[in-house]
Amino acid sequence: MDGRRTTLEPTANLSDYAEACPRFRWADARAELAGLPGGAGLNIAYEALDRHLSDPAVADKVALRWLGRSGTSTFSYRDLAALTSRFAGVLTELGVAPGERVFTLLGRVPGLYVAVLGALKARCVVSPLFSAFGPEPVAERMRLGEASVLVTTPALYRRTVAPIRDRLPALRHVLLVAPDGDQPVGGDEGIDLAARLAEVSPDFTIGPTAPDDPALLHFTSGTTGRPKGALHVHEAVVAHYATARFALDLRPEDVFWCTADPGWVTGTSYGIVAPLVVGATMVSDSGEFDSRRWYRVLDEQRVNVWYTAPTAIRMLMRHGPGEAARHDLSALRLIASVGEPLNPEAVRWGADVLGRPIHDNWWQTETGAIMISNLLAAEIRPGSMGRPLPGVEAALLEQGPDGRARVDDQGRVRVLDGPAQGELALRPGWPSMFRGYLHDPERSAACFAGGWYLSGDVARRDEDGWYWFVGRADDVIKSAGHLVGPFEVESALMAHPAVAEVGVIGTPDPVAGELVKAFVTLRAGIEPTEDLRTELLGFGRRALGAVAPKQIVFDDALPHTRSGKVMRRLLRARELGLPEGDLSTLEVNPR
Ligand code: ATP
Ligand code: MG
Repeated sequence: MDGRRTTLEPTANLSDYAEACPRFRWADARAELAGLPGGAGLNIAYEALDRHLSDPAVADKVALRWLGRSGTSTFSYRDLAALTSRFAGVLTELGVAPGERVFTLLGRVPGLYVAVLGALKARCVVSPLFSAFGPEPVAERMRLGEASVLVTTPALYRRTVAPIRDRLPALRHVLLVAPDGDQPVGGDEGIDLAARLAEVSPDFTIGPTAPDDPALLHFTSGTTGRPKGALHVHEAVVAHYATARFALDLRPEDVFWCTADPGWVTGTSYGIVAPLVVGATMVSDSGEFDSRRWYRVLDEQRVNVWYTAPTAIRMLMRHGPGEAARHDLSALRLIASVGEPLNPEAVRWGADVLGRPIHDNWWQTETGAIMISNLLAAEIRPGSMGRPLPGVEAALLEQGPDGRARVDDQGRVRVLDGPAQGELALRPGWPSMFRGYLHDPERSAACFAGGWYLSGDVARRDEDGWYWFVGRADDVIKSAGHLVGPFEVESALMAHPAVAEVGVIGTPDPVAGELVKAFVTLRAGIEPTEDLRTELLGFGRRALGAVAPKQIVFDDALPHTRSGKVMRRLLRARELGLPEGDLSTLEVNPR
């Protein structure tokens, strides 16, 4: 990173990238885990919890520090191991068999961690849903996933599930978690989980679990279309563990905070599994985004490693540096971000305002774990996603006219060498690769060609091997012979002090093919005047030249997915007057 932190970190978990890459084998990471006793396989929950019980340094330390509305609760590794065993016992008593699907519809409450890890102990397939979803997206996902069991709160049950319950014939049991205390729940709506947990034994023997047994069902964010259910297996834990150590530099002595909702893959892979497998203390904040509260959490909890998203960082940036200055953020060693492009502006803002640059990394629901990352002990090139982690073989494939990798009639693709731009692809073989989209073999098969997994994203690689996000293959704009990545244009405009957020799309033009158009949200208190528009057009032209936006409109309510990503697809649909798709399932969230 130019500027503040040029010293690299010799003590980082991954301090010598060039040396580590050729040497690393996934089998080495697997060997650091225990496996089920007696060679009975590999189970995510065992690695996250029970494995630590024989280590006195970890067994009684705090695994989960939960910040509830009315106070903080802590759970040791031993506590969580017992609670999750009880949960597995409850499922077994209810006759829920391995392989059946257990859905959670919960915010960040202790019951979430108990249910997810407990269901994994029972060898069920777990699907955490986003608790702010309305009835339709919940019904769609639960039907697709054939949910046998749902774990939720009484309030969420009434609001979201009761209206659709008759459309879920496979749903046999609803387990209810009291949100903030011990008040009795249950009755007609479902089973009082706390009462059941108290009745069963805390001893549960996890049955034989093959590394390739299904474990997690994650729905994608739905940025480009209807959400798909990506199926992951127990072996994914090897990647959760290794990537948390490499990309997040996570260590057993760390306090770690992942702000992602458990309804998104980040909130499970790194919000539940990885920190526990590493043996760290995780902070879980039940509240929604609030800049003051977040700074307080970072400060008071002495967070060492913080994993968040560009949308949150943009919101913090919108509030200015004042709040950050009132807090002691010196415990922070690493800040990481994922989910959307992280503008260079945000990387620098982190260094200036939080005292640490922000380390962008790239992965997808389908990859199950971080694949490309800016490492703690490596130079950050602001705007770049970093380099492939050890064990990850990435490539750029020559694109065809539709923007996707060109596949010849023999099923071959062309791998580009050196500095290049193409569809980002990964060599199958990393442990957390999804095993397919549920009930959609055709779509699953279409993700692979010529021995590669095709990500659907377009990236550029520089001469030193750093990867730069260009756009989703469907989002790339073709204007007057140029291929324009929306992210590059958005980042250039983000550098203007008046701009808070930008979404860039191509609009049809008879001469140029497409014209670059930017939708700009201004920072709080800034007036959207004609003068400012003219200034921004000039600002863009100076930074970008021929690929600068020709049109800029001010828009206070850019459409976001529920996970906070700008939905360019929807901006385009609105622009062209096309149907916007099934919004009831996408739950578009104008913020
Ligand atoms: P859907 O597949 O349903 O359209 P989605 O792709 O948004 O939704 P996710 O799997 O949650 O669902 O998101 C992964 C995608 O997010 C990546 O393919 C990429 O487009 C984007 N992304 C993730 N991290 C980064 C990053 N660091 N920089 C740029 N884009 C990123
Ligand atoms: Mg996707």
